Amino acid sequence: MIREISCQEAARYVYGYLDGELEPRTRAEFLQHLEACRKCLGAVEFERRVIDFIRDRGSSESPSPGLRDRVRRLFEAGAGAGNGGSVTRER
Ligand SMILES: [Zn+2]
Repeated sequence: MIREISCQEAARYVYGYLDGELEPRTRAEFLQHLEACRKCLGAVEFERRVIDFIRDRGSSESPSPGLRDRVRRLFEAGAGAGNGGSVTRER
């Protein structure tokens, strides 16, 4: 049974997904969310390009914390706009 996840949860899974570290069920939930949510899909594509860009430059380092923060805010901004209300949730 695949449950629906929120944009906030999707934001937490994106790096695990890109790193191939999600459990199969979590990955299925994540992918299901992407099919329904273009904002998160766009953010994942953006993040994938960032990672490709960094790899192309020959650096083995992962994206900086600042960059991850920016992508996370991108998700959260999308979540608030998409639901027609302000989404504020404790972390
Ligand atoms: Zn979403």
